[in-house]
Amino acid sequence: MPELSAAALHEALRDLAADPARHPLLVALDFDGTLAPLQDDPSASRVLPDGVVALDRLMGAGVRLALVSGRGLSTLAQLAQVPVGTVLIGSHGAERARVLPFGLDRAVAPLTSEQADLLAQASAQLSGVSRGRNGVWVEAKPTAAVVHTRLAQPEVGEQALTEARTVGRRLGVHVLEGKDVVELSVLDADKGEALTALRDELGVRTVLYAGDDLTDEDALVTLGPGDLGIKVGAGATAATYRVDDPPALVAALGVLAEALGAPADGAR
Ligand SMILES: [Mg+2]
Repeated sequence: MPELSAAALHEALRDLAADPARHPLLVALDFDGTLAPLQDDPSASRVLPDGVVALDRLMGAGVRLALVSGRGLSTLAQLAQVPVGTVLIGSHGAERARVLPFGLDRAVAPLTSEQADLLAQASAQLSGVSRGRNGVWVEAKPTAAVVHTRLAQPEVGEQALTEARTVGRRLGVHVLEGKDVVELSVLDADKGEALTALRDELGVRTVLYAGDDLTDEDALVTLGPGDLGIKVGAGATAATYRVDDPPALVAALGVLAEALGAPADGAR
């Protein structure tokens, strides 16, 4: 079935807001490419200004909020301007925290010595993969090593990603694929498991999930018929709805906030 457009999505959001039997509601969102336009420099990513407002309004209307990102939790917490009470899920579910008025309430998943050793090997071997390749770099996360190729020539990037996958298979770690990214994780985390755990914990009746990348499909396939899955941008998806880009996603969040009767100036 082809996905439904933004207009159909807005209608579905108004229906959702109007039906008390479907509340409480969890709005869980990817960060990069979903709330924040993709940047060549990943440290420059920010939630769109209208998104900051929409998230505040949703929180004010009693919606549970979560960001579900592949980023390490510390980086995600630095970059994401989200209301107090938002749950941050980092490293595809391997890290988690709740945003407090001053800082984070963080749940730490310590690595076993075997996992720490695997992580050190993965990092060292990915450094080998990036060496001498322009535009290829390795990111160290608490539970994973990641090779990025967004700034590399396409053929250089492809070679690096292929080698990174081989390293992952050889070490027997979890290989996660994204746009111009291969991540080798020593924890078996994915966005789908993280989302399912969070929805059970919060006891919500409905989940809205939006994301732009392959790893978001892990979350989108967990959604049930009463939930709302939104794919941001092009590419195959399990989502029912599709919007073109982060501004269109943020506009949809604004429609939901409005339909829930959230005050226009937020209620943080
Ligand atoms: Mg993304």
